[in-house]
Amino acid sequence: MATIAKNIQEQHERINRACTQAGRAVQSVTLLVVSKTFPASAVQAAYEAGERRFGENYVQEGLDKIAELSSLRPQLEWHLIGPLQSNKTRPVAENFDWVHSVDRLKIAQRLAEQRPAELPPLNVCLQVNISGEASKSGLLPAEVAALALAVSELPRLRLRGLMAIPEPAADFETQRQPHRALATLLTEVNQQLGLQMDSLSMGMSADLEAAVAEGTTLVRVGSAIFGARQYG
Ligand SMILES: *Cc1c(COP(=O)(O)O)cnc(C)c1O
Repeated sequence: MATIAKNIQEQHERINRACTQAGRAVQSVTLLVVSKTFPASAVQAAYEAGERRFGENYVQEGLDKIAELSSLRPQLEWHLIGPLQSNKTRPVAENFDWVHSVDRLKIAQRLAEQRPAELPPLNVCLQVNISGEASKSGLLPAEVAALALAVSELPRLRLRGLMAIPEPAADFETQRQPHRALATLLTEVNQQLGLQMDSLSMGMSADLEAAVAEGTTLVRVGSAIFGARQYG
């Protein structure tokens, strides 16, 4: 079997094992294939291995791949998982299905205004700086409720949940802590505001088991499928 297909199968096996350990249904965790820096042909190979959901970090690179794979567009779900500047919101609102990285109201307002009426609502997650690192993007946990309330009232958007990129950690118990904190925050904000956010976007190649143990619904996996990335 070709490498990409084999790697994808391995990621599903990891997810299945982690779900079994956690007493969770396997269908409660979705694999998002992170294709940043890899060409459309790699996405095509993952598609042929059965994958339908792809995550991109850079707006222009994502748009180029969406265009290159336009014949598959009806079957694919494209997720923007990287930072979004306000001058790039329009093509994102017009071309993506999800944005995981909303961290200010202005971005959400622009996406709401620019989402075409003929498309379904854009799915949105709020990115949370759950490890409290000064350099990372994302809201502080204490800021999440206010933005969630504001975003939940915008038209053309569907507020789905929270996303985080925790600080890397080597051991399982340390990996679990930020994932647990994000899951707790989702529950608290839902209760406090009467919202029904249903998505936790957390877990990557190195820590997906810890994320599954703490309730992730969307794991974002790149290098374990495509190999190491090269930035030029
Ligand atoms: C690159 C990236 C991933 C995938 O990371 P891997 O370690 O390669 O699995 C997931 N989420 C975000 C936001 C990323 O930028």
